[in-house]
Amino acid sequence: MPNNAVPNSTSHAAERVRGFLASPRTMLIGGRWVPAASGETFESLDPATGRVLTTVPAGGAPDVDRAVAAAERAFDDPAWRDLTPLERGRMLDRLADLIEENADELALLEAQDNGKPVAVARMVDVGASVKLFRYFAGWPSKLEGSTIPVSPRAGMRVLNYTVHEPVGVVGAIVPWNFPMSMACWKLAPALAAGNTVVLKPAEETSLSTLRLGELVAEAGFPDGVVNIVTGYGRVAGQAIADHGRIAKVAFTGSTEVGRTVARAATGNLKKVTLELGGKSPNIVLPDADPELVARGAADAIFFNQGQVCTAGSRLYVHEKIYDDVLAAVVERAKSIVVGPGTDPATQMGPLVSARQRDRVAGYVRSGTEEGGRIAVGGGRPDGLDSAYDDGYFLAPTVFEDTDHGMRVVQEEIFGPVLVAMNWRDEDDLVAKANDTPYGLSAGVWTNDVRAAHRIAGAIKAGTVWVNCYNLTDPASPFGGFKQSGWGREMGREVLGNYTETKSVWVNLT
Ligand code: NAD
Repeated sequence: MPNNAVPNSTSHAAERVRGFLASPRTMLIGGRWVPAASGETFESLDPATGRVLTTVPAGGAPDVDRAVAAAERAFDDPAWRDLTPLERGRMLDRLADLIEENADELALLEAQDNGKPVAVARMVDVGASVKLFRYFAGWPSKLEGSTIPVSPRAGMRVLNYTVHEPVGVVGAIVPWNFPMSMACWKLAPALAAGNTVVLKPAEETSLSTLRLGELVAEAGFPDGVVNIVTGYGRVAGQAIADHGRIAKVAFTGSTEVGRTVARAATGNLKKVTLELGGKSPNIVLPDADPELVARGAADAIFFNQGQVCTAGSRLYVHEKIYDDVLAAVVERAKSIVVGPGTDPATQMGPLVSARQRDRVAGYVRSGTEEGGRIAVGGGRPDGLDSAYDDGYFLAPTVFEDTDHGMRVVQEEIFGPVLVAMNWRDEDDLVAKANDTPYGLSAGVWTNDVRAAHRIAGAIKAGTVWVNCYNLTDPASPFGGFKQSGWGREMGREVLGNYTETKSVWVNLT
């Protein structure tokens, strides 16, 4: 039986969440809430306690098939196809309104299901989702083509113009670290461009996406425009990647699974965009203020329990201020309040699953075995209430004395583990910062404008933050160099992923 572990809060949001968790959930196909064809389900767990929140359908290939058929019908349905761009934009705006109106409930649900602090869920997951739909609500009426001055043979007059048409049925596969906003990163541009979608949340965190599905219906999107199939990656996710009638797949997740998705997509040569892993360098120059940097560096790695693709997981501090910065980072790590995400006082919650906690703990062991020294953390945090004995907690952890070849320096940990190194020579620093298969993001901390731009130019990454970290915006493109991905999400650039360009030639002679 589901155990609705929402704290005893009597707030409206808590009551709504309790109501949502009170019965087994179903998934959204063709406007109907349905179980998996197989009848199979799996449990969604509370990472703070390990207890069952509710059950979710374990969708499979037949469910993906049903969802694709519904999305195809919706794509050709005049109720969606013939909406004017302004009407489509208005629907996206209405969805933004509904997310905003239900923000407290959505944030609490996300905190409960993912483990993250409710304030983070409210500001980042829910807040970013609202901004995404608001931003993309403006785009349908601006997807302009061009008239192109072509040069036909002598005596011929030709009008050539382009139009941007939706690609068709989009498959969206998302991870568990920002469940709702990752879903919206894909939904908002896909819908703005007039596509229909089959969306699969991560098996660890399906709940906020299912609640979002209810709001999609309330916002007036016709049946089948958005379909949500819950299930395991190797089953439901794989079925989306393999599907012969999905025109495009947008994937966010690990580099390893990204490769599998790209391979599967060759079947019908569906278009693929990939947002994958990272091992981002956070670089501190000798003139930076150690206190300021320490705050930025700690936020860059410990935000969202370190389960962030852009986490500033490799800290490179100039040797002149290394000791000061490191001491301040360690102090900040010690001061972070770790607890259940639903407690408003919590600054860092549990990791998302026992599997993820064990994976991260394995990296901590490997770091020590390879000669790294733990400056702070490394195990379960002290002082947690016994109610959370079975939760997946790990204290903020900082490794010193690490060097370039260690696994903790080379591999994505995806948890609250920072490796700190000092540097002297800028060329060597840049070479080491770039010596990774990843290229998602980087940070630079300095007041030296020339050095900031020089290093920003030299780093091979899709995003570089100077004197800040982890800022994103729907208007700004986001994505990775190298094995951190293919393509960009957000900004005007993403719309190219969700449209086909048609060139029309009209003989005027
Ligand atoms: P994951 O790759 O295990 O899973 C991601 C999604 O893929 C889930 O929905 C999962 O069910 C599905 N999946 C798993 N196997 C599949 C298969 N064979 N075919 C199709 N789908 C499959 O990743 P995760 O553990 O959920 O998330 C962590 C990873 O995601 C990290 O590597 C992180 O860096 C990355 N990430 C990247 C970004 C970005 O924007 N670059 C953002 C968030 C997370």
